[in-house]
Amino acid sequence: MDEQKPQFESLDPADWDDTRKLAHKLVDVAVDHTRDVRNRAVWRDMPSDIRERFEAPLPQDPTVLENVMIDVNEAVLGYPMGNIHPRFWAWYMGTSNFTGAMADFIAAIQGSNLGAGNHAASLIDNQVVSWLREMVGFPDYASGTLVSGGSVANLIGLTVARNTKSGIDIRQEGVAAMDKPMRFYGSDQIHSCHQQAMETLGLGNRALVRIPSKSDLSMDVDALRAAVESDRKSGLNPACVIATAGTVNTGAIDDLMAISEFCKTEGLWFHVDGCIGALLAIAPENKWRVTGIEFADSVALDPHKWLHAPFEVGCALVRDKSAHLKTFSLTPEYLEPAQRGLAAAEFLHDYGIQTSRGFRALKVWMSLREHGVKKFGRLIDQDIAKAAYLTDLIDQASEVELLFPTNINIVCFRYDPGGCDEGRLKSINTEIMLRLQEDGTAVLSDTTVHGQHCLRVAINNHRTRTEDLDLLISEVVRLGAEVTG
Ligand SMILES: *Cc1c(COP(=O)(O)O)cnc(C)c1O
Repeated sequence: MDEQKPQFESLDPADWDDTRKLAHKLVDVAVDHTRDVRNRAVWRDMPSDIRERFEAPLPQDPTVLENVMIDVNEAVLGYPMGNIHPRFWAWYMGTSNFTGAMADFIAAIQGSNLGAGNHAASLIDNQVVSWLREMVGFPDYASGTLVSGGSVANLIGLTVARNTKSGIDIRQEGVAAMDKPMRFYGSDQIHSCHQQAMETLGLGNRALVRIPSKSDLSMDVDALRAAVESDRKSGLNPACVIATAGTVNTGAIDDLMAISEFCKTEGLWFHVDGCIGALLAIAPENKWRVTGIEFADSVALDPHKWLHAPFEVGCALVRDKSAHLKTFSLTPEYLEPAQRGLAAAEFLHDYGIQTSRGFRALKVWMSLREHGVKKFGRLIDQDIAKAAYLTDLIDQASEVELLFPTNINIVCFRYDPGGCDEGRLKSINTEIMLRLQEDGTAVLSDTTVHGQHCLRVAINNHRTRTEDLDLLISEVVRLGAEVTG
């Protein structure tokens, strides 16, 4: 054997001093990238030479890390989605924060697996869950788990609801053993992840009854009452109401108090999809909007949205801890807890479907400690004030109209020069949206609500300033004239 060659290879660098220098450079790049975000285009399309770099074959042999970093710098950092930019308002994202990003780095360095164990990361995971529980006013006996995002958080809540309300030992017997088909209820504005959850749970899309929304886009609770009554009469098993606190289309909030009362009387599971709005509970001026969320049986929320944690982190909270554990807990012989040592701790994988779990708690923990929850609450109020400002701008502009009342931080509007039918308006507005993206000015998205197409600005963005919104409206008017001109 070659004398120079160590007996075993490892992934550690040959020279830690070189690595330190490279890591320092990386930090400089990261700070500049974040500091200067406002000066760059929100988004730009990738030229073919950039795309080609991502089509290279599986590397068999090493590349000097510095050269890999050049690609990261030019191709990866150069062509982001854009959602950390002050003028990104599409879909519903968070804007991230530098401390959270540092936390992700150090969490990976520390490297713990949060499936289980008696170690610091587990305690932080528990602590973050209990802080989130406190934010929405849940009792301290409730359980919770950090997951990849809102979709999985909702799936967790709905799974506990299904198992608890099925009337059978569903873990053993499966959905086929239910004597009556289950029914879950949500408004026609419900997020698509619930349909996927129903399909995944083996209940099927048909078991998710869409209750009509009223003109304010919140669930019509009278229609809910009628649907549950009629389903009972037809021999179905009404099981769960999914209330939305902040719909993705317009930010509408279902009447949580009324739905909570209704669920209590009817013996239904009360789940709240709070991916957008649960955290309103920490916002001094707007927390009244989610009164009643504290009575839910389960809540899904999304720290990677209104807490601006870097992706991914969602959270499922369940009021009845034993129902939560009963749904997921499973201890194979190789994962038995111990009396002492590393395995002497509650097993966190018992609260969901992942065995290995990343240390996503740290980014929430560090940012909350740095800023305090009060500041995050003020930032939420501030986003809602920005949306009100944009709504005023739209009211003042003659060729731009608001299509739905602005409830929280989502504004739905369109450019309308007059004399166009719906089809023409849709194509004009789609073109405006695409040109805004391609110019790198702003990224917004569009949607169709109650049959009306509109541009949609979701201001979940601690970097947005009023001048950004001024620019948006002046550009919409300019591009609108250009498109129709
Ligand atoms: C974002 C969102 C979800 C899905 O959450 P992800 O974090 O994207 O998985 C579910 N419901 C609502 C209302 C949302 O806004």
